[in-house]
Amino acid sequence: MFADLHLHTCFSDGTFTPEEVAERGSRLGLVAMALTDHDTVEGCERMAAACKERGIESASGIELTAEREGCEVHLLGYFVDVRCPKLLAETRRFQSVRQSRIFEMVANLNRLGIPLRAEQVFELANCRSPGRPHVGRALVQDGYCETLDEAFDRFLKKHRPAWVPKFKISAFDAMDLVHNADGLAVMAHPGLNRSDDFIPMLVEHGLDGIECYHSKHTPSMTARYLQIAAQYGLLVTGGSDCHGFSKGKPLIGAAKVPAVRWRKLKEAWENRRKKQSTAQTVDGVSR
Ligand code: AMP
Ligand code: ZN
Ligand code: FE
Ligand code: FE
Repeated sequence: MFADLHLHTCFSDGTFTPEEVAERGSRLGLVAMALTDHDTVEGCERMAAACKERGIESASGIELTAEREGCEVHLLGYFVDVRCPKLLAETRRFQSVRQSRIFEMVANLNRLGIPLRAEQVFELANCRSPGRPHVGRALVQDGYCETLDEAFDRFLKKHRPAWVPKFKISAFDAMDLVHNADGLAVMAHPGLNRSDDFIPMLVEHGLDGIECYHSKHTPSMTARYLQIAAQYGLLVTGGSDCHGFSKGKPLIGAAKVPAVRWRKLKEAWENRRKKQSTAQTVDGVSR
């Protein structure tokens, strides 16, 4: 009995629709799933409906690229209210930064003599939250690179000639945004970022959980973060970070997240909601 709580769709840089993700999860026998597209919650309502139809539990989710002291930290938000006006306004802002960054990366490629057009990338991306994988796919499509990996290695990776730094909000602001939308804030794939030193301060700021299971975590990384989660009393989450066919074969189900971790996450959110509504009632009566 496993869950997959880190999944991307065509609303950002994955290739599957929410329905395709739900269908694949159902075939794998997953008990719960959550979409965590980059800077958008557009797919969440369709995912919830598609999961419900198949008898699978789900949570709305999002992945935000944040930073702390110059170091990249990815934050996941679970059970966020997908209609929260502040969340929608902020994600719109992040999306427009992503779109400008595509123009800048394409301009860099043009300077290198590659006549790619930004419109091509937008057409291929067909979403509001485009990213480097879409530029890479356009380079492969037009025959400038054999594979997406080659596109990243030659042009798109950090400090490669077409790379453009990405605007990132602070990790604290990202957590506040998630909490403001009634969600739980979780640190994503800590094993892939050199961000362990920040864990205590994020916990201090109200971090709810940490992604211990991830398709790119080694068993020793998973063990390490499970131990850190226990030490700080954090919730444990996990997921494959599947992008469909964007990075080769679909990874959905590849991080074996025990169902009990999903249940604890859901319980924590329900308890938080109860506490909040009690506080609001008390507040209402006292006024
Ligand atoms: P961006 O948000 O535009 O900076 O792009 C980040 C996305 O690119 C993430 O989903 C990464 O997993 C993906 N990515 C990073 N390196 C590679 C690579 N070598 N091949 C394919 N995708 C990659
Ligand atoms: Zn991605
Ligand atoms: Fe990430
Ligand atoms: Fe991701």
